[in-house]
Order: sequence, then structure tokens, then C-alpha cells
Amino acid sequence: MIISENEQQPIYDLHCHSTASDGLLSPAEVVSEADARGVRYLALTDHDTLGGLAAARDAASDKSLCLINGIELTCIWQRHCIHVLGLGFDAESPSFGPYLARLDALRLERAERIARKLEQKRLPNLLEEALAIAAGGQIGRPHFAAALISAGIVETAQEAFERFLGRNKPGDVKVDWPDIAEAVEVIKLAGGLSVIAHPTKYNLTFTKIRQLCDDFKALGGDGLEISYPGVIPDHTRELQRISSQRGLLVSGGSDFHSNNNRWSALGRFPALPVEGGHLLRALNAII
Ligand code: AMP
Ligand code: MN
Ligand code: MN
Ligand code: MN
Repeated sequence: MIISENEQQPIYDLHCHSTASDGLLSPAEVVSEADARGVRYLALTDHDTLGGLAAARDAASDKSLCLINGIELTCIWQRHCIHVLGLGFDAESPSFGPYLARLDALRLERAERIARKLEQKRLPNLLEEALAIAAGGQIGRPHFAAALISAGIVETAQEAFERFLGRNKPGDVKVDWPDIAEAVEVIKLAGGLSVIAHPTKYNLTFTKIRQLCDDFKALGGDGLEISYPGVIPDHTRELQRISSQRGLLVSGGSDFHSNNNRWSALGRFPALPVEGGHLLRALNAII
């Protein structure tokens, strides 16, 4: 992949989801829609699965869009649940096999526990419905949100998270996710770059975010997502400082899941030019 001279500021999106996890478009639809929106560099980053990448690659084969292998790994840093993006890795790398099998098992077991917890709140058992909605994709809380909507218990996913699934609610069961060191390592073993996703969305103070970035850099982490929907300009500027002080690259992405609200679209997040220190330039060198 070469970012050409006359393409200094390509449209890109290094964070989005498909039906392989909790997105609503199939991998092929994600690629087609990104292409139609002029996205030149797209990473499909489903939660804890590579299941969408082959279909996405097929769909990209007759387009000028450059598909970058991606994943969003759920992991733990100091008891906080953190998301680490892996980008530009070899999807055939044997290191992923056991790691992702462990995440499959953790997520299935968590789903069973979420269903039991909700039953204790006198709700029907939603496990089968949530699994049916996930339809073979990696199971997550959004599938329970959809099941709660289809059972007529809540009206929106937002309400489902506020009442049942969000932080400290009954469906927020504790999971022994892999440590962040393991997430960084598995991505590195597969030849990819690792990026802390949406750092302001973990309820951490900036002091804690700086510590997280120190630890991440020491572990061999590569970058920090500093532009994404909902981040305020002051925070992006501070995250940019935090990155450059630590030699972390910067990244941006839409975290697209669906077209259900008008703020969310592939390729849409506050402008982050592809300049020195941008992760896309480093990816350019490895894929
Ligand atoms: P999980 O990976 O199963 O823990 O679920 C986390 C996912 O739930 C995130 O990636 C979002 O897609 C979604 N999510 C988190 N909070 C909310 C919310 N308040 N409303 C709707 N979706 C949410
Ligand atoms: Mn999600
Ligand atoms: Mn995330
Ligand atoms: Mn995401």
C-alpha cells in the first residue's frame, strides 16, 4: 500500500463493526458503503473476532478501497475493561487461534450469566433470542439490548444499557478478560500495530489515561485513537500531546455500528489529517 503524493489526505476509517460482532451491516455491506462514501483506507475491527475479514476482503477485491485487517480486543488494564485495536496484522497468524477461542468461550459464558442475571430481575430468559440476533457473530451486550427491545421491555438500546446492561447494572457481569499485555502481544506476534481505542470512553481521569498510555507504550503498544465520534476538541488536543510525549502514533475512526442514527457514518469523525505520527503512515509500511 502506498499513500501517493497526490493523496496526502485520504479519507480513511480505522475502526468499524459488522455483523461479525455487534454491527448491523454485513462485512460486504460495510466495505461497499465505505467505498461509496469515498473511504480509501478501511479497517474492519469487529469485537474479539476475525470472522468478518474474509468476506470483507472479497468485497474489497474489485474496489479501489484498501482493506486493512483489524480487530477490537476486549482486555483488562488495572481492573478497567479497555478496548485495544489491532491493525494490519496477518489474519492467518497461528497466535490468534487459541487467543480468540478463549475470547469466544468468555463471551459465550458471559452471555449465559447475563441471561441468568436478567432472569433474576424477573425478565424472561433472553439467551436464545440474543444468540439468534447475533446470528453466528461474536455475542455481545448489544445483542441483549436488541433482545430486550424485541421482547418489548425497553424501547431503545440506550434504555437497555441504562437500565440493564451498562456499568454497574445487572447485565454488567464481571469477566476475566485477558490482560492488556496479552492483547498487545498477540497483535505484535501477528505482525500488527496496536492502538488504544476511544480513551475517553472508559470513565478514566486524564491522570489515569496517561498512566494507561505509559503502561501501553512500555508493553510495546503503538498508538492512541484520538479522533472518534463524541470526543471533544480539547480532549483530542490533550490526547495528541499525550501521544507525542510518549512516541505513540495517532489514529482516528468512526466506530461505525449502523446507520440508525444520523451522526454515525463510515469515515465520519472529527478530521485528523494523515501527517507525521499518524498510524496510517506506519501501516503503509507494513501492509
Ligand atoms: P460488549 O463488547 O459486549 O461489552 O458490548 C459493548 C458494546 O456495546 C460497545 O462496543 C457498543 O457497541 C455498545 N454500547 C455500549 N454502551 C452503549 C450504550 N449506552 N448504548 C448503546 N450501545 C452501547
Ligand atoms: Mn460495539
Ligand atoms: Mn470499543
Ligand atoms: Mn468499536
